[in-house]
Amino acid sequence: MGRCVQTAKCELICVGTELLLGDILNTNARFAARELAALGIDQLRQCVVGDNPERLRADFLCAWARADIVLLSGGLGSTADDITRQSVCAALGIQLEESAELLAEIQSFFMRRAQPMPQSNARQACVPKDARAFVPGQSTPSAADATYYFPNPNGTAPGLAIVREQKCAVLLPGPPSEFEPMFTHSVRDFLRPWTDGVLVSHTVRTMGIGESDMAERLADLLEGSNPTVAPYAKVGEAIVRVTARAESAQAAEERIAPILAQIRARLGAHVYGVDAESLEAVLVQRLTERGQTLSTAESLTGGGIAQRITAVAGASNVLSGSAVTYCDQSKRSVLGVHAQTLADHSAVSEQVATEMAENVRRQLGTDYALATTGYAGPDDPELHAWVALASERDTVTEHIRFARRDRAANRLYTENAALRLLWQALGTS
Ligand code: AMP
Ligand code: MG
Repeated sequence: MGRCVQTAKCELICVGTELLLGDILNTNARFAARELAALGIDQLRQCVVGDNPERLRADFLCAWARADIVLLSGGLGSTADDITRQSVCAALGIQLEESAELLAEIQSFFMRRAQPMPQSNARQACVPKDARAFVPGQSTPSAADATYYFPNPNGTAPGLAIVREQKCAVLLPGPPSEFEPMFTHSVRDFLRPWTDGVLVSHTVRTMGIGESDMAERLADLLEGSNPTVAPYAKVGEAIVRVTARAESAQAAEERIAPILAQIRARLGAHVYGVDAESLEAVLVQRLTERGQTLSTAESLTGGGIAQRITAVAGASNVLSGSAVTYCDQSKRSVLGVHAQTLADHSAVSEQVATEMAENVRRQLGTDYALATTGYAGPDDPELHAWVALASERDTVTEHIRFARRDRAANRLYTENAALRLLWQALGTS
């Protein structure tokens, strides 16, 4: 096949009426988009089509005429509405045949689960005549016309790849638990001959700086083209992605390194990690390194902070416990917040947040304790929250005024503010 002179162009077609009805989120499109970008393949269009053979055929033929790679997701199931395999093969004039080898694999999938194989699953053993198994690391897609199948250890439908006139159609099963590993294990390797160098990205994650403030500080860098520097925002967090294209990963890293150093210098202490999974992951790691522990007393966030911390592997080294104290009564009885403090200042006050944090820290004997209390809306007259971080040294608090009546966003924002207080304390002590 040789190396492409120009970057290969890909179009994605996601097949499934459930996508058009809004029953499920099209996560395969997002996954594929990121994978293709990382491979240095340009994705030019995404399309969603229902389980309708005529429309799928029409969309496929349009994409096939324009692109080097047509990637299809879904419609490889065993039921009559799963039409991708038949439609695409028919459009390309390819006959399907039952493969004894694949049929045995599908049968063994059911045997491992001690279930009888429904007769309809035999359809999934139908692949183009002469299709060969593609074995990552061993097979090289041939320049000549050929067809391949990708084994599916996580389900029954094998993936398919058809090479015709230097183009390829890649058909993958819809369930993300099958689509994603098949992409990672087989398709990445399969598409290698269509890739022109590599794209490497690094993500700088920050806390406590707004997206526009960040963009101003990085203004001149944002104009670069290789690497590109792209800021974007999540709730309470500004992120900047640096991406370079080069002939090898090492060459791309070399392009990125000086830009990354510039960004770190300009954003300073706001940067909490490069390619960090999440702020909570960074916190668990830091606390573990220091042999320190955390507890939380949560009202407005309902255990959300503890949930995020415990989602990180190794959290048991760090999180001692968490009290979800939603009403005044439980703030008093579980945490020992004074009735007088609640009466004088109300549950959403700096004083109550402080007592919540200090008391849970004392009760659970941790180095740090976080507390949250507030009104997240949408119906509360005033939307605001207090967060507190208690440590041996002192208790710091922060007041948040919510601009929107968006309960979920306000809760998330409060979790982030609390985690940020802890991160700042760890950075300075
Ligand atoms: P199918 O391969 O069409 O039989 O799809 C089987 C299941 O995979 C569907 O019922 C969905 O739950 C899921 N699925 C299909 N397409 C997608 C997609 N684009 N994104 C996420 N999930 C999908
Ligand atoms: Mg389907």
